[in-house]
Amino acid sequence: MNKRGRMDRRSFLKLAGLSFTGLAFQPLADLLPKTVFAKDGLPTETLALQKWAMAVDLNLCSKKDNCRDCIDACTRIHNIPDFGNPKDEIKWIWTAPYKDVFKDQAHAFTKEILLKAPVPVMCNHCEHPPCVKVCPTKATWKREDGIVMMDYHRCIGCRYCMAACPYGARSFNWRNPRPFIKSINEGFPTRTKGVVEKCNFCEERLAKGLMPACVEACSQKALTFGDIRAPRSKVKALLSRRYSIQRRAYLGTEPVVYYLL
Ligand code: SF4
Repeated sequence: MNKRGRMDRRSFLKLAGLSFTGLAFQPLADLLPKTVFAKDGLPTETLALQKWAMAVDLNLCSKKDNCRDCIDACTRIHNIPDFGNPKDEIKWIWTAPYKDVFKDQAHAFTKEILLKAPVPVMCNHCEHPPCVKVCPTKATWKREDGIVMMDYHRCIGCRYCMAACPYGARSFNWRNPRPFIKSINEGFPTRTKGVVEKCNFCEERLAKGLMPACVEACSQKALTFGDIRAPRSKVKALLSRRYSIQRRAYLGTEPVVYYLL
């Protein structure tokens, strides 16, 4: 500042530089206009007022043997590669046996049907996500609407987030995934070698007012997704009415994917 309290050229350039640096480190999504989503409950003005959650009805899910509706839809839409071996598998939504997913919940009298049917699992978009805390480049962060995001361009492949996630919900691209994608959806970015990825609750579809692809594709209507803050929210009504469990709730991560029994 000069004696008259006005900003001189040098101060201005310094301030402009600092502002630019701050801007450059802000996640891209924070700079984009917020979208309105009116499909579940009352329309709201901004994403900041919303809180997404998913309810998976295991009774409905178990009714169709070998069902892959949700997995196939997610794979197709998000350009998920198939490397042909489980070691390199990229998982956004996948299935696992009940007794593995809910080790702390299964007991000698658990319903037979639950033990038999595989449980769909994905990123839990935890309220307190340990993966976000450990990321050194802020390539993963939590939005105000609860979605835990990934910026593939910021990811340096350190895999701290994978080590921190207690649910195995993140996968690493050991190779260039593009040649291993069956049919590329040009509307969604493909990833590169050395990058971590995971379920994004179909944030790109939510921004257009669409339900997540897995929810839409489920022929059993076992998946319910929506804003738990909306007064007429279906997911909120289901969770208030039915008994539900979360994966490893004792860890304090507060998953927003609930399983209805
Ligand atoms: Fe992070 Fe794992 Fe929780 Fe997803 S499930 S938010 S990857 S800790």
